[in-house]
Amino acid sequence: MNKAESAALETQFTEHGWNCTDDPERADLVLINTCSVRITAENRAWGRIAYHAARKRSRKFFLVVTGCMAERLKESMRKKQPAIDYVLGNFQKQAFGLVLDAAARGERLPSIEESPVFSFAASHLEQGAFRSYVPIMHGCNNFCSYCIVPYVRGREVSRDPEAVYAELDALAERGVREVTFLGQNVNSYRWSDPNRSGSGDLDFPGLLRGAADRVRQTGIRRLRFMTSHPKDLSDETIDVIASDPLFARHVHLCVQHGSDRILKAMNRRYTKAYYLEIIAKLRERIPELSLSTDILIGFPGETEEDVEATLDLMREVRFAYAFMYHFNPREGTPAVTLPGVIPDAVKKERLARVIALQKEITRETMRSLVGTEAEVLVEDRSRRKEGELLARTDRDMMVVLPGETSRIGEFVQVRLESLRGVTFRAQEVF
Ligand code: SF4
Repeated sequence: MNKAESAALETQFTEHGWNCTDDPERADLVLINTCSVRITAENRAWGRIAYHAARKRSRKFFLVVTGCMAERLKESMRKKQPAIDYVLGNFQKQAFGLVLDAAARGERLPSIEESPVFSFAASHLEQGAFRSYVPIMHGCNNFCSYCIVPYVRGREVSRDPEAVYAELDALAERGVREVTFLGQNVNSYRWSDPNRSGSGDLDFPGLLRGAADRVRQTGIRRLRFMTSHPKDLSDETIDVIASDPLFARHVHLCVQHGSDRILKAMNRRYTKAYYLEIIAKLRERIPELSLSTDILIGFPGETEEDVEATLDLMREVRFAYAFMYHFNPREGTPAVTLPGVIPDAVKKERLARVIALQKEITRETMRSLVGTEAEVLVEDRSRRKEGELLARTDRDMMVVLPGETSRIGEFVQVRLESLRGVTFRAQEVF
């Protein structure tokens, strides 16, 4: 999400006549797009802000901080670091163009208004790029007890389907082959338009169907989406994915924990049994599907038994991969005040066990695919070896194959010959 939004901000630079540089020494304006989801991300942002603030003593430029940390801390950021020229919260980003125009005149705007509604920006596309993100909804209504997102992103807002489809048309015209729909919880997408002819409301499976029909005759050959909340993944959505090969054979379905007691304390609003039921449905309808997840370990009150329940769930589902973290309290969320804080050393030891098990499962899952064929989208040249290309299967697994860089952006049928780490080595099948 952050990457897609940074790209959209980059578009604004270009539209307002600015050029982008990675060299801060040449920049007349430095923009830092921040994340608030973990304290480590905020600490890193403070480090970068301090670095640029120090540079401002010897060189004149504008320093702008935006994103979720800007939304969370607002003007208090400037009190802590007066070298910041603007703190643009998530609902002030629409004013970024005005900031750029003023900066081009060497001026600083005295204040920036907040927009009451979130405005979706079109994706920025590099020349020759063949993959793109398309935001379809924003914000979250779920209020998981550990999560800062609903406070910094606001309530759920869905994007007009016509704007989504128009963006797909534009991306197809520019040669894009794969699109990922983005949102904090894409499954709760819902668009109500009284002027819309036909059935009125449009939900997530309806949007997926509409999008698939729209791109079917174009060069876009793969559609993905992330991220999904288990309680909102409907049978109809599963049916749409199962019945249309345009949808990648991969679903990221955050489980967070395997203990019902902890899931309740996290306010996740499902049980382990319910999660496993969805997995069973997905596997029954789409046997070749690969699944990935997020796991949060060390939540307050977590016992050894709860950790075992999580390890059991992982053994049962056998995720292809997982993003695994230990709990860090986020100021302003209910979990901060919960009793039963787990000491850091214990959290780390538990997380290490979770990671070790996942590594084993990932290796076994991938090993079982050696010898099979897959269609891959060639994404880049290998940085390690001349004459090799990096590609991705529709189950979201990385592949290295020999080939010319002219093949980048093409779909290629390969045989997965062997496994090195978590990357397949493959040969093209003719
Ligand atoms: S569903 Fe995801 S984004 Fe929303 S509150 Fe829960 S963890 Fe945060």
